[in-house]
Amino acid sequence: MIFKNKKRYVIHTMGDPVLREIARPVDVVTPELRQLASKMIESMQAFEGVGLAAPQIGEPIRMVALGLPQESMSDLPSAGEEKLLPKMPFVVINPEIISTAGELEVHDEGCLSLPDVWAPVTRPSRVFFRAMTIDGELIECECGGLLGRCIQHELDHLDGKLFVDRVDPQDLAKVERELRQMQHYGEKHHFHRVKVK
Ligand code: ZN
Repeated sequence: MIFKNKKRYVIHTMGDPVLREIARPVDVVTPELRQLASKMIESMQAFEGVGLAAPQIGEPIRMVALGLPQESMSDLPSAGEEKLLPKMPFVVINPEIISTAGELEVHDEGCLSLPDVWAPVTRPSRVFFRAMTIDGELIECECGGLLGRCIQHELDHLDGKLFVDRVDPQDLAKVERELRQMQHYGEKHHFHRVKVK
């Protein structure tokens, strides 16, 4: 009984078709969805991620966990960073990006579903974000910094997109081998990675 009192966390990795589905909206917050929300936060923390979308734990539902550290606050923080970072971690349902603003910025991104792959992605620096927390609180604010980027990355997951879809061809070529191996590994190990904590 090595795993007694321990929990097993599973993240679905690239190659799993669930990551390519358009996730369905949440109509009613049921006890099952609350359980899913807790599981998302626990899984995100077990793998030391700062964001996690429900499809990454195998559920194609429009739910996202956000868990950025307070230290990720920009020097000149957006209203969203000031408002939301102190409340993290939390889970939102049916999140939307109403509009984008600011300059296009290039930053390296990684993803729990693509272990050990990092590549530059160009995205707008700010987004106007709207969502409902799992507890029914409406969020409407402009988010920049790492939070703005994380929101864009996680919402992509809900539309079946992965960050590598947004990487320039010449940068993508540099990680092509890792991506091929991941696809192979994913198929061999049924498209997921496991951590017991
Ligand atoms: Zn991701």
